[in-house]
Amino acid sequence: MTLGVARVPVVIVGAGPTGVTAATLLAQYGIDSLVLDRWPDVYPQPRAVHLDDEIYRIVARLGIADEFAAISRPAHGLRLLDDTMRVLAEFRRDTARSANGFPQANMFDQPEFEVLLRNNLKRHPHATLRGDTEVTGITDQGDGRVRVAFTDRTDGREHVVETDYVLGCDGANSVVRAGIGSTMRDLKFQQRWLVADVATDADLDQWEGVHQVCDPERAGTYMRIGDTRYRWEFRLLPGETADDYASLTALKPLIAPWTAHAADDELELIRVTEYTFRAQIADMWRRGNVFLLGDAAHLTPPFIGQGMGAGLRDAVNLSWKLAAVLAGDLPQDVLDSYEQERKPHTRALIRLALNVGRSMTSGGKLGNLIRRVVVPRIHRIPGLSDKVVDSSTPALRRSALVHRSRRRGGLAGKLCPNPVLPDGRRLDETLGSGFALICAVPVGAEQRARLQQRGAAFHIAGADTDLADWLRRGHAAAAIVRPDRTVMRAGGQIDELCDAVPRFTLPGGQK
Ligand SMILES: Cc1cc2nc3c(=O)[nH]c(=O)nc-3n(C[C@H](O)[C@H](O)[C@H](O)COP(=O)(O)OP(=O)(O)OC[C@H]3O[C@@H](n4cnc5c(N)ncnc54)[C@H](O)[C@@H]3O)c2cc1C
Repeated sequence: MTLGVARVPVVIVGAGPTGVTAATLLAQYGIDSLVLDRWPDVYPQPRAVHLDDEIYRIVARLGIADEFAAISRPAHGLRLLDDTMRVLAEFRRDTARSANGFPQANMFDQPEFEVLLRNNLKRHPHATLRGDTEVTGITDQGDGRVRVAFTDRTDGREHVVETDYVLGCDGANSVVRAGIGSTMRDLKFQQRWLVADVATDADLDQWEGVHQVCDPERAGTYMRIGDTRYRWEFRLLPGETADDYASLTALKPLIAPWTAHAADDELELIRVTEYTFRAQIADMWRRGNVFLLGDAAHLTPPFIGQGMGAGLRDAVNLSWKLAAVLAGDLPQDVLDSYEQERKPHTRALIRLALNVGRSMTSGGKLGNLIRRVVVPRIHRIPGLSDKVVDSSTPALRRSALVHRSRRRGGLAGKLCPNPVLPDGRRLDETLGSGFALICAVPVGAEQRARLQQRGAAFHIAGADTDLADWLRRGHAAAAIVRPDRTVMRAGGQIDELCDAVPRFTLPGGQK
């Protein structure tokens, strides 16, 4: 039996990290959403363990930076090792602070992080999360309204909710993706890996970063993810399954290179499971008012720890645009910029993950060549250097909301830094969650009034500050910074820039 039709501006299918992040950001702008997930609680299996400083900045935006600090551990970077544990290459990360204001590599346990995200969502009355609900169909009514059908798994009853927008955050086997006729493009990478989590109070006495063993016979990854928690991932050989490693005794030969300092009875095997690592990207991320985000739109092999981060980047990119369209501040067509900006960025990071994955697992002459010649020089390869050597990711491509000039080194599309200001706060805390103009020169009273009318904040970068230096290096006197902290446009003409700032008057905007 189908019950009466309820109505809500946004329905989010899936309460994984992507869906809950999108719901939280929309709620911060006062936009109501209904989040539907088939399970009552977070998915308990081990998955993501790493996020970078850009993603930490999003976590801070959600209001849970301190809580995340309490469950995470900054790491020293990435080491590529050969099969004898000799270091082939090392990419260091700053464990203190980065331009984004947070450590560059952070280790954590995904289920613990998801509990944090969900508890935080409960603080926002604009978001309603309903577990035990299986979404079964999406129907575009053709007049800007979409109907979402779902079953309450506790009593089998069917429901329909009507909405303006659907965000498909329903993971790798997305029904929303199928519903809009989008298909995954396979980037020709598929490997079976064993994932094992171990707890111990013993000191394993290892370098405090991610160890990637580049060995076509048995590629592997080791990392410390908490005070007493460790993660190993090993490529499974043909014919092997996770069941072959279900006990510590069976797993021990694989983890022995890292556990010489611990007695067997000091190690507790928490979870062992098998995953197929894939590289895929959906051919279409939007149809009408239905969008795909997170694993529903892309799958990144976890070699560089960016899959979940990509979902959070999707959520932060789309949520403010959607909120502004719903509020009537921005026209509908700005929503086209979501796929235009996010798809190439995601593809670049998938490619990087594939390169690191191939350096770990490729056999034969190609594999040896990659490991001996390419890996030690990876920091010199154009396009890979900045992403592997430091933690910054590519600039967003040109769109209606990214005005990139042809000049090299321009700021548009890149994230604005998040320095500590003289009053002790970070820039993000002072700008609020709307648009802002960052200037190295004074802004006149009339220009200020114009910015205020559009709901935009402004910040004058003092002489000899990090921000003034950033503007100078970007050949700009000022930059328009979007609500997601990406630079929309930069240049020398303050008046022109003031006119180019879009109207954005939502709550949570100007502070
Ligand atoms: C071994 C491993 C290691 C990884 N390591 C990292 C890492 O270090 N760093 C990193 O960034 N990423 C990593 N990832 C990737 C990361 O785990 C995923 O990218 C992330 O979980 C995707 O989040 P999501 O919210 O998009 O999808 P999911 O987490 O899959 O959530 C989707 C949600 O949708 C719900 N759902 C699905 N269908 C329906 C339906 N029909 N109705 C209602 N609800 C539905 C599901 O119940 C689920 O809760 C790793 C993955 C693996 C497997």
